[in-house]
Amino acid sequence: MELPFSESYKIKMVEPIRRSTRQEREQWIKDAKYNLFNLKSDQVFIDLLTDSGTGAMSDRQWAAIMMGDESYAGASSFFNMKNAIKNILGFDYFLPTHQGRAAENVLFSVLVKEGDYIPGNSHFDTTKGHIEFRKAHAVDCTIDEAANTELYHPFKGNVDPAKLEKFMAEHSSKVPFIIVTVTNNTAGGQPVSMECIRQVRAIANKYNKPVVFDSARFAENAYFIKMREKGYESKTIKEIVREMFSNADAMTMSSKKDAIVNMGGFIAMRSEKLHQECSVFNIMFEGFITYGGMSGRDMNALAVGLDEGTEFSVLETRIKQVEYLGEKLKEYGVPFQFPSGGHAIFVDANRVLPNIPKEEFRAQTLGIELYLEAGIRGVEIGAILADRDPETRENRYPKLELLRLAIPRRVYTNNHMDVVAAALKNVFDRRDQIKKGFCVTWEAPIMRHFTIHLERAK
Ligand SMILES: *Cc1c(COP(=O)(O)O)cnc(C)c1O
Repeated sequence: MELPFSESYKIKMVEPIRRSTRQEREQWIKDAKYNLFNLKSDQVFIDLLTDSGTGAMSDRQWAAIMMGDESYAGASSFFNMKNAIKNILGFDYFLPTHQGRAAENVLFSVLVKEGDYIPGNSHFDTTKGHIEFRKAHAVDCTIDEAANTELYHPFKGNVDPAKLEKFMAEHSSKVPFIIVTVTNNTAGGQPVSMECIRQVRAIANKYNKPVVFDSARFAENAYFIKMREKGYESKTIKEIVREMFSNADAMTMSSKKDAIVNMGGFIAMRSEKLHQECSVFNIMFEGFITYGGMSGRDMNALAVGLDEGTEFSVLETRIKQVEYLGEKLKEYGVPFQFPSGGHAIFVDANRVLPNIPKEEFRAQTLGIELYLEAGIRGVEIGAILADRDPETRENRYPKLELLRLAIPRRVYTNNHMDVVAAALKNVFDRRDQIKKGFCVTWEAPIMRHFTIHLERAK
C-alpha cells in the first residue's frame, strides 16, 4: 500500500481554542458592527482571517530568539538577517522594517511621485493604499483568466505581457517601476510563472525601468513553479527563489508570511544609491538602519524562518493542506477560485449569493454567515476592500467577490479543515434563504475595510 501524505513536523506546544453557541455569535458579530476584524480572538473558533503573522514558529526559531542581540546599532541579529537575505534572495543591501507595508512606505517615499503610474499584477491593498496616498495610480495588468474562478490556469497570478507592453508604450515616462506580486494575493494566492517574470524583466529593460517584487509569498510561488513549470521539476526551492529574484532590482517583504515570523519585514535592493535614499526614510519612520522597527530576537527568528520557509518539505506540507480544503469544497460543490492558491481558499461569493445585490456586499455576507454557522473567521476580498475611487469617491465593484479563508502556517490540522468545509457546505446548502446583505453606517476615508461599521440591509 502506498503510504499517505503527512505533515513534516510534530507538535511540541498547543494552545486551547473554544467553541461557542450560535446565540453567542449572533450577539458578538452584531456588537462588532458586522466587521470580522472587530471580533475578539476568543470569539473565534477557527481563525482564517489571515496567514499573516499567525504561523507557528519552529523550535529552531525559538532557539534563535533566545540568541537575539538587542544592541541598538550593529547587532549580530542584523547580520544574521543580512546573510540570510544575501544567501537566499541574492540582494546585497537591505533595510529591516516592522512589517511589509512599512517597507512599501519607505521604498515608495523614494520612488513614487504624484501623478505616477505603477503597473503590476493586482496590487495588494496596502500597496495600492501607499500608491494612492501619494496621488499616484496602480494599474492592474493581470491576465484575464484570473477573473474566471472556474478556469484552470497553472499561473493565474501572471502579468499579461501584452497589457503591460501597451501601457508602457503609452505612459512609460510616468512609470517609476513595475511591480510584480508573488504570489498574487488579490487574485487568489495564484502564482506567477518564471516565464512571466522573464517577460516582465524584458519589458522593463526595454523601457529602462526597475522591477520591484512584492514578495510576501515568494516561497509558495517557487513551490508552484517547481510543481507546474517545465524545466523546474528537479530544481530546489532555493535555486528557483534565486532565479526569480535575479529578475528584480528591489523587493518589499512582509516576513509575516513566508518567513514564518509573527512580526517583521524588509526592503532589499541591488543599488547602493537606492539603499542610501531609503535609509533616510527608514530612520524617520522605522528606526535605525540596523533594526528598523524590529527587535534583535525577531530579526534572528526571521533569518531562520527565511531558511525554513524555502525548504520543500515545509512548503509541501502547507500547500497540500490548502489543497485538502479545496478538494473537500469541490466535493461539496462550493465554488472557489480554482486551482486553490498557496495560502488560502477564495470562495466565489458571486456564485454562492448571486441574488444579493453587489451593493450589499456578497463576500462580506458570506463571511458573516460562515462565522454564525461555526465561529470560523474569513475575510472579505470584494467591494468593501476595493474601497472608493480616490477621485470620484464612487464605490469600486471588482469583478470578483471572494471570501478568503487564509490558512496559518503549521497551526491547524486537517480535522479543522474538515470543520471549515462542513460549515461552508451548510451555508452553501441554505444559500437560497440568505436574501439580504449589509449596508455601511461608517467608513474611514482610506483602507476602510479594517474599521468599517455595517448593519443588516433592510
Ligand atoms: C501582507 C502583504 C503586504 C503587507 O504586509 P504587512 O506585513 O501586512 O504590512 C504586502 N503585499 C502582499 C502581497 C501581502 O500579502
